Amino acid sequence: MKMDKTGSKHKGRTTAGPQRTFEGLAVSPGVAIGSAHLRDRGEIRVLEYQVPVAKMAAEKARFGAAVERAKRQLGKLKGKATRFHGAAAEELGYLLDAHQHMLGSSRLLSGVEQRISKTRQNAEAAVMAEIADIAQSFEQMDDPYLRARAEEVREVGMRILRALSDQKLTDFSALPRGSIIIAEVITPADTALMDPAQVGGFATVLGGAEGHTAIMARSLGLPAVLGVAGLIEGVKTGETVIIDGSNGRVIVNPGESLLADYQRRQRELERADRALARLRDVPAKTRDGERIILQANLELPREVGQAMAAGAEGIGLLRTEFLYMNRDDLPGEEEQYLALKQIIEAMGGRSVTVRTLDVGGEKLASALGGERSTTDNPALGLRAIRLSLKEPKLLDTQLAAILRAGTHGPVRILLPLITTVAEVREVRKALKTVSRRLRRRKVQIADPPPPVGVMIEVPGAALAADSLAREADFFAIGTNDLTMYTLAIDRGEEQVAHLYNPLHPAVLRLIQFSVEAALRARIPLSICGEMAGDPRFVALFLGLGVRELSMTVNALPRVKSRILSLDLDAATRRAGIIMDQFDSGRIAALLDDFNSLA
Ligand code: PEP
Ligand code: MG
Repeated sequence: MKMDKTGSKHKGRTTAGPQRTFEGLAVSPGVAIGSAHLRDRGEIRVLEYQVPVAKMAAEKARFGAAVERAKRQLGKLKGKATRFHGAAAEELGYLLDAHQHMLGSSRLLSGVEQRISKTRQNAEAAVMAEIADIAQSFEQMDDPYLRARAEEVREVGMRILRALSDQKLTDFSALPRGSIIIAEVITPADTALMDPAQVGGFATVLGGAEGHTAIMARSLGLPAVLGVAGLIEGVKTGETVIIDGSNGRVIVNPGESLLADYQRRQRELERADRALARLRDVPAKTRDGERIILQANLELPREVGQAMAAGAEGIGLLRTEFLYMNRDDLPGEEEQYLALKQIIEAMGGRSVTVRTLDVGGEKLASALGGERSTTDNPALGLRAIRLSLKEPKLLDTQLAAILRAGTHGPVRILLPLITTVAEVREVRKALKTVSRRLRRRKVQIADPPPPVGVMIEVPGAALAADSLAREADFFAIGTNDLTMYTLAIDRGEEQVAHLYNPLHPAVLRLIQFSVEAALRARIPLSICGEMAGDPRFVALFLGLGVRELSMTVNALPRVKSRILSLDLDAATRRAGIIMDQFDSGRIAALLDDFNSLA
């Protein structure tokens, strides 16, 4: 943390301490200026209910898993605390130690477990009751030091509750307009509840640049900085905060001149966006006349209007996880059908690529049971298509909804995390069975049946792209997971974020391999990972033979503008040189040098 003395009073601002600057990961560009809102730990709403006897063991396991998750979070926070110096570090270290100790205390753990078995209380209610009891016994002590521990007990309880609830049900709608959310962690489900008209931007202590929270921030156009050490201790609710999402900076109590600079930058960005918006109806063509298809990735149905406004030629990736977020039950066929129908109709005849549920790993829907996230390697576990194939009802419901929605416009089905040809075949079999069932019920379905495509996002799938190309009707390369699995770097983890490098030659070779397999098999291919929305990579992709890109709506105008300035022949030659390189630094230099000539 940097501190200077230029903080001063500004009209309308609640507090004015010294100006402080924090550094973190620049995950979603733009500038937001507003008053800080520290996510209030008391916001958690606890549901109380009776657990059936048959589910008692599962409820205890759920509690145990939440405690483990809470311990892991504390461990990470402790790691961050060591980066501070002096008394602050020491104090924070003691506090976190004390919290960790409490999480291991047998009184708390056995007390909650006993409540679950004896009174059949759900884990949340049992934690609340046990914490209240322990806190009360501290409060009755004579020693003021021990009395003060009651507050810590409550904090630990809240941490377990947050871990139990996976932080769902956070309500941001009551905040003043333009609030900046400051939190230890923000989940993708939290971001789904943020209305950009209400929330200005956010910053967190934990989280990496390619995790889903970061993707959601970009898609909502919310400036965001993640992985900021010392943030919670360094900001108070009501203080003025600047989120510089382009440079990874959070500035608290900015001085007059810095504030004016950032306000100017905000206006410049708005002007640039307005200029780019004029490209809406200009076809995406390179200077030498090659037509490129630009589609949008959709996280939430409410973005569909923006996708049309930005001139998207279709939805290249509809992430259906939104249907499962912030709820405790599963969406039925009718609900899914209606949601899809609305999007398809809004796209007015442009194709919509619906990806089947991709949860597990870092994207967990609580309705599917929190315990799934607690395995040692969730990213390698029961995720995405693996979960859908293991729980056929989940897949069948989704396929039925897509088949029915396909009567309202062109749809394609996209399968996440495919690793084997057998998985694609199994889905095709399920699709046939579901179609037959719907026809028997005289329900209208898409005719001809929607194309079935696979995400290439596992290195094994890329290396087997030739065989997958025989089974699949199209490919969509997911560079986010492909990079993560190739380099063994957790995309949502701030501590290894600096090692996440999609320009690593191994990642590029896997992309090239997949593109060539698709070209040989003459099936359509698009790139739909975050790389597709970065103008920096456009020349490389086009040079490798890619002609379709799908990206977050906000990135569309800049990518189009890059295409318009590009010479495809030159890009192809540069891509050839790049693919001969071994070193990602040299690759980056060759690419940036080429881009600077435009
Ligand atoms: C990807 O992995 O690149 C991708 C597009 O899918 P998601 O980000 O939803 O995992
Ligand atoms: Mg993926």
